[in-house]
Amino acid sequence: MIVGAGACGLTAALAARDAGAEVLVLERDSTPSGSTALSSGFIPAAPTRFQRARDSAEQMAADIQRKNHGEADARIVAAVCHASGPTIEWLTDNHGIPFQLVEGFLYPGHTVERMHCVPEKTGAALMARLLAACREVDILTSAQVIEVDRYKVEFQRPDGTRDEVEYGALVLACSGFGGNREMVRQHLPEIADALYFGHAGNQGDAVRWGTALGARTAGMSAYQGHGSVATPHGILITWALMTEGGIQVNERGERFANEHVGYSEACLPVLRQPGGVAWCIYDERLHQLGMTFPDYRDAADAGAIRRDFSPAGLSRTLEAVARYTDGKEMDPFGRDFTKKPKLEPPYYAIKVTGALFHTQGGLVIDERARVLPRVFAGGGAACGLSGNHVWGYLSGNGLLSAVVLGRIAGTEAARA
Ligand SMILES: Cc1cc2nc3c(=O)[nH]c(=O)nc-3n(C[C@H](O)[C@H](O)[C@H](O)COP(=O)(O)OP(=O)(O)OC[C@H]3O[C@@H](n4cnc5c(N)ncnc54)[C@H](O)[C@@H]3O)c2cc1C
Repeated sequence: MIVGAGACGLTAALAARDAGAEVLVLERDSTPSGSTALSSGFIPAAPTRFQRARDSAEQMAADIQRKNHGEADARIVAAVCHASGPTIEWLTDNHGIPFQLVEGFLYPGHTVERMHCVPEKTGAALMARLLAACREVDILTSAQVIEVDRYKVEFQRPDGTRDEVEYGALVLACSGFGGNREMVRQHLPEIADALYFGHAGNQGDAVRWGTALGARTAGMSAYQGHGSVATPHGILITWALMTEGGIQVNERGERFANEHVGYSEACLPVLRQPGGVAWCIYDERLHQLGMTFPDYRDAADAGAIRRDFSPAGLSRTLEAVARYTDGKEMDPFGRDFTKKPKLEPPYYAIKVTGALFHTQGGLVIDERARVLPRVFAGGGAACGLSGNHVWGYLSGNGLLSAVVLGRIAGTEAARA
């Protein structure tokens, strides 16, 4: 049995079915979507036949551990990375999900292009394709699990009626606690007042049930933040604008951080600026790059892209950035500007804020995604790969753990 029909639950269902098990997925929503459908749908994996550069599971694990300063459990990171390439190829070859490589830019901390996505480049399309692959899986929707014990789960229907089902093995795929304000305030006070941009139904249930059954948690202070959500539009603006040469400034037109450190930790300095907002500043070249992303096109349609943002400090900032790009001066925030082309007028601007995307802490698992005998977890329900801080999140750690641990958990649950 599987609780939750996001990327983790659906991948677990496919794996368990492939292993010959009878599968039932219980999902609280009437239409499964989860944070997966809200995401960009980019999944890191190495090596795969889709990649152009040489890559390996070891190099991928080293990138993940460098970002979290070695705080994540190295055995889990290694197990996930080794299973990542085969998982993406299995979803393509056995379940008809046509993955391709995301090309043209690297996210901070990735040493090689290893992000994979479906052709539509959205999490909604990834979900639609996973659901299509699961057409023969029993998915009971509008079934909110409210209690779990060692043998059965109890779920509730929207009309309040309740049912119990016994399980042989259980996969907790009901994600983290981003939608639970109290838990966020308890574990992540630094981001508790910010916008939550993930799925509201992720209420920390796996942690509640798991700990009641005697399981441990880890990484509860880690999360994926983001420093670039268009406001007031509420649309994710790709961080590729920053990695490829763009900058962030505050209302006064002044930079305040190194934009190349990572989009997750960028949420905090953005929220510390006046009004809790910043402006992404970039040029026509980067606008064209942005237009290859569906979210960015939505932002353009919504009128989020501005050409008239020109506070007094901005021209001084752009002059300084030009000197850093020419190598004439060092950026006081430590960013190396010399590797990308100089920003050229006319400039574009988008007003953004910082947000909480999803929580990384969760149930402690072993390399087989096992929490307790016959109970498994993956995705946001399990302890993540990001250590204990917002800066430990390497881009892709979320879906990596959902899809790869989903497959491991589904296979192991079938065996159990
Ligand atoms: C805007 C945004 C962009 C992102 N982009 C990326 C990206 O490009 N790459 C990446 O790696 N990560 C990304 N992430 C993170 C990624 O979305 C998550 O890490 C991932 O989707 C988690 O998958 P999951 O299956 O664990 O959870 P979810 O997809 O959230 O699924 C959990 C499911 O469980 C259900 N559920 C919860 N509680 C219960 C219950 N009690 N009973 C029954 N069902 C229940 C929920 O309704 C939901 O359907 C992004 C996140 C956001 C918000």
